[in-house]
Amino acid sequence: MKGIAILGSTGSIGCSTLEVLALHPEHYRVVALGAWRRDELLFEQVRRFAPEFAVMADESAAARLAERLRGSGSRTQVLAGAEALAGIAALASVEQVMCAIVGAAGLPSTLAAARAGKRILLANKEALVMAGELLLEAVRRGGGELLPIDSEHNAIFQCLPLGTRCGVAPSGLRRIILTGSGGPFRDWTQAQIDVATPAQAIRHPNWSMGPKISVDSATMMNKGLEFIEARMLFGVSAEQIEVVLHPQSVVHSMVEYLDGSLLAQMGTPDMRTPIAQALAWPERMASGVKSLDLVAAGRLDFLPPDPTRFPCLPLAQQAARTGGLAPAILNAANEVAVQAFLDGQMNFGGIPAVIDKVMQQAAIGRLETLEDVIAADDAARRAARRLLPAHAPKHVGAR
Ligand code: NAD
Ligand code: MG
Repeated sequence: MKGIAILGSTGSIGCSTLEVLALHPEHYRVVALGAWRRDELLFEQVRRFAPEFAVMADESAAARLAERLRGSGSRTQVLAGAEALAGIAALASVEQVMCAIVGAAGLPSTLAAARAGKRILLANKEALVMAGELLLEAVRRGGGELLPIDSEHNAIFQCLPLGTRCGVAPSGLRRIILTGSGGPFRDWTQAQIDVATPAQAIRHPNWSMGPKISVDSATMMNKGLEFIEARMLFGVSAEQIEVVLHPQSVVHSMVEYLDGSLLAQMGTPDMRTPIAQALAWPERMASGVKSLDLVAAGRLDFLPPDPTRFPCLPLAQQAARTGGLAPAILNAANEVAVQAFLDGQMNFGGIPAVIDKVMQQAAIGRLETLEDVIAADDAARRAARRLLPAHAPKHVGAR
């Protein structure tokens, strides 16, 4: 029996992880669940999986959860606050930690899992974008391992030779081809994109995901964050990564070797596949995902991305080349801009504009310590917030 902690259990990835685990109760035990403030959903998950610990980052949500659980005869211990999330990531009875909190909020618990030598199943790409070197160093020192859940990186990982270490490019690798659907606005004009609403942005054609990553897919910042993520995870240069649009989301990414061989990982677009792959690695187990019907899929298209309509991709690629604290600054500006867009405070077109301005204004320092990252993140958030009013939507209530 392997002990698992799921951080971000109430989200899209968290729920998919529990679905996969429910297929294998004889091999996995849910030791701890952690989330932000959706206490009703966490209550149901606790009732179903009976973990030893349930953590809510939000104190009043934790109090509500504890109250309801007391009434139900549950023996699960309820903890509150962000430190408790990091605590459950380091429990001795936990072997694997699903890091599926969205955004910078997931960094401390991901680092705690790394330091404690756990197998990290990393969905929280923002942690790697912000503090990639620190996180990989913590994994090395902790003696654990990090397996990517992001479907593209999981696909690449599956196409690399067994024994490939995090952050070290395997010999014979020529390049990585990162595929992306292009998001819901792939074929929209610039004028349409600029005034897109949150409801339109979160309606992804192929994947069902949380609101923040759905907006990132619509701006293509998601592919930009994944570009940075790929550099970190696979130890390749920016020149060795090509981004290709692939509207069908059947090929999840590819690896090319020096001899010209191109290996792809394909499948039905469903996150339960990479989740099950990483949980069971180096073995395989059922995920509940249906087989890919190649004849029904019919054709596979590949197109170049358009940096003019989707400037977030080149902004992120530039941050990857600059290195140091540039990715952390980009990520922080993006988180503020996306939240403002989702809250109806800003136009869709304001998202790349705000990030571009923050990047231009920022003094980009070197990344040496976690404090450097936190300070850069904080300054970039403040800079981004100052820029929001310039991009307020013309029609208030356009949501
Ligand atoms: P989501 O919005 O559905 O869920 C987010 C989870 O994080 C929730 O459980 C929420 O409670 C928790 N959370 C949010 N803020 C928190 C805070 N301050 N403290 C503690 N917990 C907090 O998001 P998602 O789609 O499941 O994505 C999670 C992560 O996985 C993101 O980093 C995303 O980029 C990545 N990812 C998701 C997918 C996908 O298909 N959904 C694919 C690849 C990568
Ligand atoms: Mg992805």
